[in-house]
Amino acid sequence: MPDPASHLYDVSMDVAGVRGDTLPLQLPVWSPGRYARMDFARNVQEFRATDGAGRALRWDKTNGSRWVVLTGGARDVHLRYRVFANALSGTFSVLDSAHANWNGAALFMYVEGHKPDPVTLDIVPPTGWHIINGDTRTADQTTFRFENYDRLIDTPTEVAPAVMLDSFVVDGRRYRTMVHHNGPVAAATRERFVRDVEKIVRYENSVFSPPPLEQYTFLFNIGFPGGDGMEHLYSTQIINRAPWQDSAAVLSGISTAAHEYFHVWNVKRVRPKALGPFDYTREQYQPSLWVAEGWTQYYGLAALGRAGIVPADAFYATMGGLIQANLTAPGRKEVSARMASFHAPFWDGGAQPQPTNGANTFFSYYTKGAGLALYLDLWLRAKAGNGRSLDDVFAALKRRSWNAPTSSYYLQGRGYTEADVEHAASEVAGEDMHGWFERYVGGTEDLDYDALLARAGLRLVRGDRWTIEEIPDATPAQLTVRRGWLTGRRG
Ligand SMILES: [Zn+2]
Repeated sequence: MPDPASHLYDVSMDVAGVRGDTLPLQLPVWSPGRYARMDFARNVQEFRATDGAGRALRWDKTNGSRWVVLTGGARDVHLRYRVFANALSGTFSVLDSAHANWNGAALFMYVEGHKPDPVTLDIVPPTGWHIINGDTRTADQTTFRFENYDRLIDTPTEVAPAVMLDSFVVDGRRYRTMVHHNGPVAAATRERFVRDVEKIVRYENSVFSPPPLEQYTFLFNIGFPGGDGMEHLYSTQIINRAPWQDSAAVLSGISTAAHEYFHVWNVKRVRPKALGPFDYTREQYQPSLWVAEGWTQYYGLAALGRAGIVPADAFYATMGGLIQANLTAPGRKEVSARMASFHAPFWDGGAQPQPTNGANTFFSYYTKGAGLALYLDLWLRAKAGNGRSLDDVFAALKRRSWNAPTSSYYLQGRGYTEADVEHAASEVAGEDMHGWFERYVGGTEDLDYDALLARAGLRLVRGDRWTIEEIPDATPAQLTVRRGWLTGRRG
């Protein structure tokens, strides 16, 4: 980062033990968690290759994102290129006078065929700037070793002159919040923010057990242009343009944290088949984002109430709004949850070079998946006297995939399929759910939320903004289900 104001990262890459006459290098065309094809290579410039003695090597390209260096028999190849980066987001990278923040897919190439190899990253920060990412263990650490390329680019990094760093311990794990806030912050607001993040972690860890990690880091940029959240194995990137308001009931960044931290299990570890190990050479079309994103969306929304950050009426308003979208959005009859997931590369960050009819033909797998999650959660609770919930379905899915024999160099277990989700739900429901999945996941039938809510002594109130109301004369059985849904607890 020799000149932050230029927005140019200077990347050097040493490849040792090269064999053969050519060295193929690939820059991802997409980045996991954002599904559109991005072609990060369009921001690469001044690419040069040299051998161990510093002699220039010839190179060519076979497509926009694949370089081939003619090695001339060299065993050590040195590459150097610059990357223009001027977008703070969960996918792109930025370098400017305020900070550096990168997502590795936009910066780092891999040697074709060698994604599983360990890699080392050395960071040379501008004088006086500090490095923080999910892997930093000491204050002045500049060298990071990753077990493979996937982990390198799954470790977004912030480098800034001054950040607020706090930590807390939950379930024996160390959690850190890094906040790069644009403007001054009251000490009490900072404390409340960290406490609220801790409440979220405490609730979400109770859902499926604490994740297998020693340290997890929330990277927040608050009050800077942009808005995004992105999940990673040991960290998350959260960007919110609204600076903190001391009086706000929910400080900016908190809702996104509730969503992103849920991904620590759902999608980052218990994952659809296409999402680890990853094929970075083309965008990935797959049918399960209604689970990976939709269930995460549901639990993230529920977490604010269940963790005690917002009161019950806010929980009801949120869930009422979710049901409203699921019963009124024009695109819901055109696209099933399954097909909406499949179309993610068209819509999730996808450029729209031509006008589309998306408002009528697309309905987000976030909202549709969250609506299905709400239904399943409350339906299972009603069916089992609050003895079971969607938590159990996810646990069953985790047993089938995460606890299965490890199928590749990447993480433990294997990715799940659509059949795994259906079987996990059937197992917990104690009945064959195939017909239900055909109608509501593969099909576009509306769910009967009125009948479902009645089983918890609740009523849907349809107005401009739908909400949910408690029926005063609810039975003890209805109250048990209602209490379970509100608190997230079973039994
Ligand atoms: Zn998400």
